[in-house]
Amino acid sequence: MFDLTGKTAVVTGGTSGIGLGIAKGFVRAGARVALVGRDESRGRAALESLGSKGAGLYVQADITDHDQCLRVIQEAEAHFGSVNILVNNAGMNIRRNVEEYTQAQWYQIIDTNLSSAFYCAQAVRDAFVRANGGKILNIGSMLSLFGTTYAAGYAASKGGIVQLGRALAVEWAGLNVQVNTLLPGWIETELTAEAKLLFPDLEAGILSRTPQARWGRPDDLAGIAVALCSRECDFITGVAIPVDGGYSVQG
Ligand code: NDP
Repeated sequence: MFDLTGKTAVVTGGTSGIGLGIAKGFVRAGARVALVGRDESRGRAALESLGSKGAGLYVQADITDHDQCLRVIQEAEAHFGSVNILVNNAGMNIRRNVEEYTQAQWYQIIDTNLSSAFYCAQAVRDAFVRANGGKILNIGSMLSLFGTTYAAGYAASKGGIVQLGRALAVEWAGLNVQVNTLLPGWIETELTAEAKLLFPDLEAGILSRTPQARWGRPDDLAGIAVALCSRECDFITGVAIPVDGGYSVQG
C-alpha cells in the first residue's frame, strides 16, 4: 500500500518547510523528487537533507514566471525520464490592511500562490499524458475556508487554489489525472516564524484554538500527501482535506 516506487514528483517550494516535509515523505515511499525554489544555497541544503543519493534534483526557478514553470517540468522529465506527481506548494504572504497593499504586492501574492499552480499544471499536462496519468496536489490553507485580518490577498489566493483544483479534477479526469488540495493548519516553518514575530500573541492563540493543542510540523503533511499520490487513492479527486489538528472543526 502507498508505494511510490518508480514515480517522480516535482515539488514547488520543496526546498523548505511543508514542501520539504512532503518531499522527504515521497522519498521514504520510494519516489524521486525535483525540489524547486529560487535560493540555490537553500536548494542544495534541502537536496542534501533528503538523505538518499540519486533520489533528488534541485531546479532553480521562480515559479511566478510561466516559462520557468515549463523549464522546471522539462528538466525534471529529462533527468528522471517521467513526471508523475506535481505538488503546487510554493507560497508566501504579505501581511497588511487592505488599504495598504500596492498593486505589485497583490500580484506578488496571487502570482506566487495561485498563478504558479496554473502555469505548472499547464506545463505538466503533456508529461502526464506520456505517463498515462498523474497526480496534482495543491497546498491551500485554513484561509481557503476562513477569513481574517491582514490576509486579503493570501485568502483570495488560497480560496482560488481549491477551485482551480476542482476545475482541473473535472477537466482532466479523462486523462487519469487526480487533483486534490491539502489545507494545512498552523505549521512550524519560516513562513509562520515571520508571523510570530509580527504578532506576539499568535503562538498562544493558535495553541488554544487548535484542539490538539500543538502546532503542526512539516512532516505532518507527508503521510496524506503520499497516500493521495499513490495508486490506492486513484478514485479520490477534487477534494480539499484539512491537516490541522482539528482547527477547522473547533466550534
Ligand atoms: P516556507 O517559507 O518555509 O517555504 C516556502 C517555499 O516556497 C520555499 O521553498 C521558497 O523557496 C519557495 N518559494 C516562494 N516563492 C517562490 C517563487 N516565486 N518561486 C519558487 N519558489 C518559491 O513556507 P511553508 O512551508 O510554510 O509554506 C508552504 C506552503 O504551505 C505555502 O503555499 C503556504 O501558503 C502553505 N501554508 C503554510 C502554512 C503554515 O502554517 N506554515 C499554513 C497553511 C498553508 P525560495 O524562497 O528559495 O524561492
